[in-house]
Amino acid sequence: MAGYSFDFTGGSLCLNFVNTVSNRATSEPIEHLRRYEDWLAWSRQAGMNVKSLERVARRQTQRAQAVLDRALRLRESLYAIFSAIAAQKTPPPQELAALNRVLPAAMAHPKILAAPSGFTLQWQSAEDALDAPLGPIVRSATELLSTAGELAKVRECAASGCAWLFLDTSRNKQRRWCDMTICGNRNKARRYYQKRREA
Ligand SMILES: [Zn+2]
Repeated sequence: MAGYSFDFTGGSLCLNFVNTVSNRATSEPIEHLRRYEDWLAWSRQAGMNVKSLERVARRQTQRAQAVLDRALRLRESLYAIFSAIAAQKTPPPQELAALNRVLPAAMAHPKILAAPSGFTLQWQSAEDALDAPLGPIVRSATELLSTAGELAKVRECAASGCAWLFLDTSRNKQRRWCDMTICGNRNKARRYYQKRREA
């Protein structure tokens, strides 16, 4: 994941997962999760405890790669769903079906745990469950889809080719770029050169 880091504060975990491809809508998309270890590094960055999976993945490299391939197919379904919603269109039914297929596993093994103030609901997964990072991602997607107020904030970056998704939490609901310093400036620069050419 060289040269890639993402700010996990705010936003939504499922959208951050979708954004592990840069320049998706160009002829040269950049894949940030090429190996299973990249996904673990991302999961760690997102605050998940994936220590036991590092050992399992080292022993079962082929299985780990297959799990990653499945996760990346789901990622494309999530992109299709939320990109459609950002464009105020109906998500493709086959992509919703793909999400529904992984729901039972993601919602399995819930457990109520006593916490210092009250209780928390947690999901347990087996120590060798290589697909464990999918759980929080899928639950984040279902939560976003079923929270109308949040879902209405989903946007797709307006910069040409970027296709990153984000939640517009700005007061005036006018945010257009995934990141002003990257895509906002890139767009400003592009307009500047266009103007110069036209002049
Ligand atoms: Zn962008």
